[in-house]
Amino acid sequence: MHKKTSPTFLTLLALTASLLGSTVPASADEGTLNIYSYRQAFLIKPLIKAFEDETNISVKIIFSKKGLLQRLIAEGENSPADVILTADINRMAEFETEGLLQSVDSDILRSNIPAQYRDPDGRWFGLTMRARAVYAHKTRVASGELTTYEDLAKPHMKGRVCTRSGKHPYNISLLASVIAARGSEHAETWLRGLKDNLARRPQGNDRAQVKAIYQGECDVSLGNSYYFGKMLTNEKKPEQKQWAAAVNIVFPNQGDRGTHVNVSAAGIVKSSKHVKQAQQLLEFLASPKTQALFAAVNFEYPLKSGVKLHPIVSSWGSFKADDTNLSKIVENHDEATRMMDRVKFDH
Ligand code: FE
Repeated sequence: MHKKTSPTFLTLLALTASLLGSTVPASADEGTLNIYSYRQAFLIKPLIKAFEDETNISVKIIFSKKGLLQRLIAEGENSPADVILTADINRMAEFETEGLLQSVDSDILRSNIPAQYRDPDGRWFGLTMRARAVYAHKTRVASGELTTYEDLAKPHMKGRVCTRSGKHPYNISLLASVIAARGSEHAETWLRGLKDNLARRPQGNDRAQVKAIYQGECDVSLGNSYYFGKMLTNEKKPEQKQWAAAVNIVFPNQGDRGTHVNVSAAGIVKSSKHVKQAQQLLEFLASPKTQALFAAVNFEYPLKSGVKLHPIVSSWGSFKADDTNLSKIVENHDEATRMMDRVKFDH
């Protein structure tokens, strides 16, 4: 279908170009599949190379840490983007909220990705999974002393807990999962208890909390599971191996709802001109062979069952994940954000 170039579109193009400081492609290269990726290049490039070799479909990827949503909105119908890749469900939910994704009807995706890790309407699919775990000092925390997220808010944890900002998406999702499981009132009481138990104001990233445990500032912290693998194997910053060696990874709530998890995800853009190839890519990423590679390279968990784990990840033992559909947790994000502000979590 040919469209007339309207002044509005030209204005939009100019605006986009100035926003991005670059030239916006006038149209998608015929036959090339375009990916906008929030996931880092080192994770995605090898998988895409394998996809190109297997299918003869050529792929172009734009990697960015931010601004891809705004870029897609600015480009509108004329965007070359076919596929969105995000590092967590929070980001993907923003694309969904803006109505930028289309439903995908695929038996392969339905059977390879468990229902809790994909949108019930097929607008996004989880690809790899990670736990929001607890890191606990090997000797200062007795075994059985901390087995649930609820324990983090109990009196015996006073002054012993470290975490990054409450506004970070990882902690927003965790709080949203507590709201989903226990209701708002319980969640807020829990959050206030957790804040009261903090050893210091929320700061730094997930790894910085493990460093603080190593240095004796606190005894436990919240952190995504893959960071344990990344610290344990960090040749560039070998001090991180020492931080990781000081802690055990704990998967909370094994006796009830299970540990809160999040996923990296993929979706197909509503205005995609290569829907068939885009679906092929998603199915490729959900295939057993790719799932093993994709998960292992970042110490994550594959979503397709029966796929082998990285040996370091499997050494942490198996755990029960909270099976609430992630779309239900996403629904509580706004409330969780307001709750973090209300309790002044970061102050
Ligand atoms: Fe991360």
